[in-house]
Amino acid sequence: EVACQSDLEKLQVLGSGSEGIVYKVRDKQTSMLYALKVFRGCHPADKEIEILRSMNSPSIVGCRGIFEESIGELGILLEYMDGGSLDNLVKTKGSFPEKTVAIIAFQVLTGLDYLHARKIVHCDIKPANLLVDKQMNVKIADFGVSCKVTGSEDSCKTYAGTCAYMSPERFDPHTYGCNPFAGDVWSLGLTLMELYIGHYPYLKPGEKAESTALMFEICMEEPPRLPDLASESFQGFIQCCLQKELDKRWSVSQLLGHPFVLSGRSLALAAQGIFEETIGEVGILFEYMDAGSLDNLFKTN
Ligand code: ADP
Repeated sequence: EVACQSDLEKLQVLGSGSEGIVYKVRDKQTSMLYALKVFRGCHPADKEIEILRSMNSPSIVGCRGIFEESIGELGILLEYMDGGSLDNLVKTKGSFPEKTVAIIAFQVLTGLDYLHARKIVHCDIKPANLLVDKQMNVKIADFGVSCKVTGSEDSCKTYAGTCAYMSPERFDPHTYGCNPFAGDVWSLGLTLMELYIGHYPYLKPGEKAESTALMFEICMEEPPRLPDLASESFQGFIQCCLQKELDKRWSVSQLLGHPFVLSGRSLALAAQGIFEETIGEVGILFEYMDAGSLDNLFKTN
């Protein structure tokens, strides 16, 4: 952890969210880069800070320190993700190829598995809350509306979050408390679909809608489906996430065994680094094996 706030040099503003400003900062002593999120008036709840501090997973944006900025201001030092958010990437790139989405699915599910095992529901999974670094590591960020399921009835009955990515049961006070973890799975399904088709699935590209109209559509209509161009395994995976009925929707641990996610897992494990060359093309950097394949060795010897 960074010992002292005066060790940090502010380099630029990375973005300003609803709660405060995010700066890119450098530790003067080690030259390490970080993101510093400074909260103005409204402080994150102690609950959010507690959740953040307790996280230790390669699939979750890590917290590296908490500072009192100036009187009334609080700074949270985060791991720096130099690729920005998936939301920004999809806006600039257009869309992601299926193989990249499979790798992202594996990474985010690994993060969700970590959270759910600790009884934490993220409650706001969407492209803007998934951050990337240049090696295409994708990590979950922003625990502003997350909650810990304590067993007491109301611990997770929050309506905070982003309406567009909420599951049907979250609009229904009778069913939501039953299995709050399933809400994250629905949001992930919509998010991954958005990355592949390049726009929010319930609307046409560029189309806007009131949140009540969206809510109506999410609750009353059939869930969106991938275009036929997508592989069967990808289509099946999305259907497992976007089940309107709670007991039909797959859990995170079930999804980690789905063929689509397993394919993403092997790609992620095989690759030393993955980068996107152009839209529709994935470049995967492998460890260099200087003697070639066994097959070729047999042929030459
Ligand atoms: P919001 O309040 O809209 O959820 P945040 O305040 O969390 O957004 O972040 C605002 C912007 O700052 C994000 O869109 C993202 O691009 C950038 N950002 C946030 N955290 C990091 C980080 N750890 N590394 C790099 N960029 C970040």
